[in-house]
Amino acid sequence: MRVLICGGGVIGASIAYFLSCRGVKATVIERAGIACAASGKSGGFLALDWCDGSPLEGLARRSFALHASLADKVGRDLGHDWGYRRLTTYAGSAAALDHPRLTRSAHQLGWLSDKVRISRQLGSSDTTAQVHPGQFTAAMMQAAQAKGAELWLGRATGLVQKAGRVVGVEVDGGIVEGDAVVIAMGPWSVLAAQWLPLPPVFGLKGHSLVFETGTEVPAEALFLEFQEARGSVHSPEVFPRADGTTYVCAISSDSPVPVDPGDVAPDPGAIDRLHAMCSSLSPILSKAKVLASQACHRPVTQDSLPLIGGVSGVEGAYVATGHSVWGILNAPATGEAVAELIVDGDARSVDLSPFDPVRLAPLDPARLQMDG
Ligand SMILES: Cc1cc2nc3c(=O)[nH]c(=O)nc-3n(C[C@H](O)[C@H](O)[C@H](O)COP(=O)(O)OP(=O)(O)OC[C@H]3O[C@@H](n4cnc5c(N)ncnc54)[C@H](O)[C@@H]3O)c2cc1C
Repeated sequence: MRVLICGGGVIGASIAYFLSCRGVKATVIERAGIACAASGKSGGFLALDWCDGSPLEGLARRSFALHASLADKVGRDLGHDWGYRRLTTYAGSAAALDHPRLTRSAHQLGWLSDKVRISRQLGSSDTTAQVHPGQFTAAMMQAAQAKGAELWLGRATGLVQKAGRVVGVEVDGGIVEGDAVVIAMGPWSVLAAQWLPLPPVFGLKGHSLVFETGTEVPAEALFLEFQEARGSVHSPEVFPRADGTTYVCAISSDSPVPVDPGDVAPDPGAIDRLHAMCSSLSPILSKAKVLASQACHRPVTQDSLPLIGGVSGVEGAYVATGHSVWGILNAPATGEAVAELIVDGDARSVDLSPFDPVRLAPLDPARLQMDG
């Protein structure tokens, strides 16, 4: 059996890894490069219990445990380190201008400026962790390749079906043959609504900076509310990483997703505003070298839950996308469950029923719009 996975983000690479562990030949078809989009530009923050009480609870808890075991087992076998570590996580607020509400708090963290007020601890090293998302995605793909998977660089443009079942994917004018396909193209999964009855997937843009901070910043993640001088309020997330860098993201926008993932660029002015925000947050960030200024789109659905499951009416067609703000966290359990679904006909490790794509109406392909 050969499974074709369209999209080499964290979801596609994780599915390839878990299929390879089951002895199935997986081929990842990736247009631009492994982890070139959100999977390489996101925060990589992981939480055990932040999805509790929602339909994501089982997926998140299973994924949090898998992240730990993958770092231990695959990291050791491959000799790879993708920066998995536990963190302490805090909430707080800050403002560009001095604000009477911002008195120093009991939890003041030494590496932050006095414009930041830490209000409470959100997580401990038992409940919060992180990975470098691009390195994690690349390692999942390499671990899959070590077990026989292959990476096919090319643009998926259509599906080949015979008598109602998948027999291949059109890639750059040719056909790659396979017995099943998984659509895992993040926000670009919407293009597959031309090939299959799939609900819409949207892209919500976020901006981020990566700073070289060396050993000066401890393993303390922050979720802040920040008021700019002009009055707008943002929610910067700050993740110091094990490799001596610090990642900060904020400033969302609904700028359209370009057809070519290589054309995703920051909105005008967004990076300058984010840099000013970071300079207010910490003297270390204000002086640090900027290693990356970037933007990416998180894939979202109409009800904010992912689409994971078989596509009705087309044998051998599956989808795994729409993981929104928790795609890095939830990739391992998604990969494991999709592999079970394809190999065993049913997912046993987590309940996929809340994510069944049939819950949402398929997109009329005539309404498909993408930038460019
Ligand atoms: C600013 C920001 C911060 C985030 N922080 C976190 C976090 O801290 N923790 C967390 O868990 N999640 C986080 N997320 C969410 C997470 O990044 C995403 O949910 C996840 O990366 C989505 O992965 P994916 O594989 O579905 O899609 P993507 O990473 O978008 O991958 C899709 C792939 O499909 C490829 N593709 C597109 N078109 C084609 C085609 N025609 N043929 C072949 N390939 C194609 C693209 O090139 C791309 O590589 C964050 C997201 C953003 C935007």
